[in-house]
Amino acid sequence: RLGSDVEVDAEIDEEVADDDLLGGLQIESTDEIEVPERLVDQVIGQDEARDIVKKAAKQRRHVMMIGSPGTGKSMLAKAMSQLLPKEDLQDILVYHNPDDGNAPKVRTVPAGKGDQIIEAHKEDARKRNQMRQFLMYIIVAVVLGYALIQGSLLLGILAAGVVFLAFRYSSRSTDSMIPNLVVNNSDQQTAPFEDATGAHAGALLGDVRHDPFQSGGMETPSHDRVEPGAIHKANKGVLFVDEINTLDIRSQQKLMTAIQEGKFSITGQSERSSGAMVQTEPVPCDFIMVAAGNLDAMENMHPALRSRIKGYGYEVYMDDTIEDTPETRRKYARFIAQEVEKDGRLPHFTRSAVEEIILEARRRAGRKEHLTLKLRDLGGLVRVSGDIARAEDREHTTREDVLRAKRRSRSIEQQLADDYIERRKDYELTVSEGDVVGRVNGLAVMGEDSGIVLPVMAEVAPSQGPGQVIATGKLQEMAEEAVQNVSAIIKKFSDEDISEKDIHIQFVQAGQQGVDGDSASITVATAVISALEEVPVDQSLAMTGSLSVRGDVLPVGGVTHKIEAAAKAGLDTVIIPAANLQDVMIEDEYEEMIEVIPVNHISEVLEIALTGETEKDSLVDRLKNITGKALEQKVGR
Ligand code: ADP
Repeated sequence: RLGSDVEVDAEIDEEVADDDLLGGLQIESTDEIEVPERLVDQVIGQDEARDIVKKAAKQRRHVMMIGSPGTGKSMLAKAMSQLLPKEDLQDILVYHNPDDGNAPKVRTVPAGKGDQIIEAHKEDARKRNQMRQFLMYIIVAVVLGYALIQGSLLLGILAAGVVFLAFRYSSRSTDSMIPNLVVNNSDQQTAPFEDATGAHAGALLGDVRHDPFQSGGMETPSHDRVEPGAIHKANKGVLFVDEINTLDIRSQQKLMTAIQEGKFSITGQSERSSGAMVQTEPVPCDFIMVAAGNLDAMENMHPALRSRIKGYGYEVYMDDTIEDTPETRRKYARFIAQEVEKDGRLPHFTRSAVEEIILEARRRAGRKEHLTLKLRDLGGLVRVSGDIARAEDREHTTREDVLRAKRRSRSIEQQLADDYIERRKDYELTVSEGDVVGRVNGLAVMGEDSGIVLPVMAEVAPSQGPGQVIATGKLQEMAEEAVQNVSAIIKKFSDEDISEKDIHIQFVQAGQQGVDGDSASITVATAVISALEEVPVDQSLAMTGSLSVRGDVLPVGGVTHKIEAAAKAGLDTVIIPAANLQDVMIEDEYEEMIEVIPVNHISEVLEIALTGETEKDSLVDRLKNITGKALEQKVGR
């Protein structure tokens, strides 16, 4: 049994497991949960990745992990190093080369031997030095004695000085015979794990330090200036590189050579430094590569490196969510225990605090009956909650602490969005009551986890030439496609001769980054239709949804955050795509504030959003006509 097959070690009541947020765990707090010793057993979910890591460790294959940040990629890579045999570990020594000082020699010995060799060399050097010193004092004494007999003290002192310096110099050169232990595995309990994420060339591939004194007896011998890279330190272990695509192409190329050869000479990385003249014999770097990144990373990665990993290893996709079962919920309780122990200073969590974290994991999953696997972020919430309890010297972290932490640990985007909502309220940019022609409250997502209300205004004006649909504001590019879809529908149903009109669409104050245009297309459609037909729109309502050319309302991202934003802005109703209904997981406090209406077709949107009975009815009828009979069933009125 390994990894997530390992059950939580605590008393479990199977009878209540199904409805219980803790999956039937009979605990008062998380200190009753045993944390597994091995890292691989602490991993939650990611069954496929875990199995591949196990297999790859056995077969010594490389692994490519693709997935969202904080889902356990580096954790699994580290776990992999703990699964590798420790008996294979080696120490690596770099020796002075008497034939060519710029080409140091490299020797590999079993782990632990390196230290002994260095000790022996030092002992040797000490003894030789003692002998030399002894010899030197005798010679100095003889020279001085002879000078005194001759009656020339000055000459004597000079001669003694020369002898002294000569000995100093020669003893330095014996020091330089002591090898440089560049990789020392004597204390290593497991195979090495090296994280080379964001490493520059020298840190990754090794380097030779610059020597400011390149001659005259002051120089440091070149073998002493050799520094290993992560690839060498990872010898017989795991080299982990996240965001692999950010590694510059030359380094990726060299990395590939290192993987192919299993050894890589160390040379100075900066061209003008004296280190660049030095090149060691090849240094072993027989590591298993675990490369990680998001989908983007795959595209920008050196294709040869990728095919190298693919051809000699595995590729695996990390899960973002996991099915919400009693067993997983028990694991999440153990996750909290793990994070508390890892931190070392946080008070353990009470039962209800654990429940609150699990609820949050549900909410963050954004998917029905799932829990989020973005566990780095969830771990952040655990730490902030625990810190609050610790600051007040409490024995346990409580549900209250978790709730406070949730408020405090809002992302930058959320804080910005809140600020934004506040400011807009000041300027009354968000209209939340009354009816207005051509104005619709749209909804958008900022960053990953916060929504904002983004009003869209449309205006219709006679055109000078052929009619155009013009989007203004900063969203122009993004919205272009949405606008095109919308205009296709409008052109079909409208009595007004659209070819003689310009339709201006404005996203009010869309100065924010990361607002996605496509999810605003039902908003744009509604605003344009309202303007064209001069039927007002209910301002106490907001909407989100994408639109097909046939008028179907298609699902969009971030509905939960969008609904919460609408509630915060004081709106009463939100229209969302019916296909998104299962993603809605708003917090209790908002549930009473706002009504969520799922829709399938633009005619339903208009039915709800437009006011002014007679005009509206004829409009909706016309829309149904042009978009086919099937809709009448859907709208049902
Ligand atoms: P990544 O490399 O995918 O960005 P990490 O492996 O560095 O993420 O995860 C950061 C931390 O989050 C881990 O140290 C661990 O505490 C927690 N964590 C992430 N994924 C998992 C998981 N699947 N199971 C248990 N803990 C996890």
